[in-house]
Amino acid sequence: MREKLVAGNWKMHGGLAENKVLLDGVVAGLSGLTGAKAAVCVPYPYLFQAQSVLQNSPVAWGAQNLSEHAKGAYTGEVSASMLKDFGCQYVIIGHSERRSLYGETDAVVAHKYKWAHAAGLVPILCVGESLAERENGVTEQVVARQLDAVVHAVGAAGMKGAVIAYEPVWAIGTGKTATPEQAQAVHAFIRGRLREVDAELAEKTVIQYGGSVKAANAAELFGMPDIDGGLIGGASLHAEDFVAICRAAQAS
Ligand code: PEP
Repeated sequence: MREKLVAGNWKMHGGLAENKVLLDGVVAGLSGLTGAKAAVCVPYPYLFQAQSVLQNSPVAWGAQNLSEHAKGAYTGEVSASMLKDFGCQYVIIGHSERRSLYGETDAVVAHKYKWAHAAGLVPILCVGESLAERENGVTEQVVARQLDAVVHAVGAAGMKGAVIAYEPVWAIGTGKTATPEQAQAVHAFIRGRLREVDAELAEKTVIQYGGSVKAANAAELFGMPDIDGGLIGGASLHAEDFVAICRAAQAS
């Protein structure tokens, strides 16, 4: 039985004062959470704040990116071991904004994944097609290519414990959510692809949906058999909404 995971992706939002209000609200709202997991992935400068507020709470924390290198002369970069220093459990890898705005290729994503996994972080590996790719009928090819790049780099053992986030690019931050059926079809495809690598891995891997998940649509999405929670952007910036989405995961 897979436990659902709801993770917030704050993106480049926040400030010390507003974070405190948000984190306190999330902790208060999720007190006693069982049967589902919750986490927030915050900008690097706020990892210490997240650690201070969230330790000993049911909410884990993580980062939104990491370097493809372990250490060295890489000005401005942050390594996997640095994230571990701040108690991160999760790190988002290959978000579509990183792929499209910062030119992260499948090969770069695979490198980042390797370092995250080696450091004991749980990678949240994002995959998903653009609107043009969906309209051209190549959703499965795109998702398979993104997934295979990592699977080939790390093998079945390296995929163990990872989280995959299916995020159709056309649904991120647009208010357009994939229907539960559309999302389920791609989630089942991803799980099938993992099954070709290892049947147990496929059954155990948490596959989140991301793309305009809100309190109003979370329960329906999370009710689908292969949707194991969500990666939440905009709605994770409002404690009440994020808490409601986590509670929907708990109830489904
Ligand atoms: C995201 O950024 O990963 C995301 C899913 O954003 P939103 O929920 O705002 O669509």
